[in-house]
Amino acid sequence: MIINMQIVPEGHSTLTGTTNLESVKADLPTFLEEISYNAEIDRMEANAYVHVTFKGIFELQCSRCLNDFPWTVNSDFSLIIKERIASCSVQSDSDGVDFYYDNRHEQIDISPAFFDEIMLSVPLKPLCSESCEGIDINGLKNVSLGNDEKLLENKTIDPRWDALKKLKK
Ligand SMILES: [Zn+2]
Repeated sequence: MIINMQIVPEGHSTLTGTTNLESVKADLPTFLEEISYNAEIDRMEANAYVHVTFKGIFELQCSRCLNDFPWTVNSDFSLIIKERIASCSVQSDSDGVDFYYDNRHEQIDISPAFFDEIMLSVPLKPLCSESCEGIDINGLKNVSLGNDEKLLENKTIDPRWDALKKLKK
């Protein structure tokens, strides 16, 4: 998503639209539709304070049943855009400043801010639903395997279990 400081007016303004986050999308989960955003911008002279709320739908793979499912993210973040003053090139990043522009580069791509926010929100173990029962293997009743995949091998491959069953009898 690009903010063009050339056309951001002084005072309060709102930007709404959709974006496919071109510059960072290769490293994100697959989009099912473009991200819709609403950006509230407060500009005071050269600086702009931006608060973005957005919604996106991505395709994730369930960690239990391995099926793909749509995952919706609703989130928001804030950032500050400042003008970079060419005369002081050793300007240290001051607190809370996220993006700089100058008079030759007034279009600022804030997609990396979306990227950070989305990646922080993606669950480590995505589930298609809290009650997902996992993979249905070999006609067994749905077994919840959780994250222990070795369990799967034991149940289906290891013939020594048969011997154990006989012993029990
Ligand atoms: Zn599932």
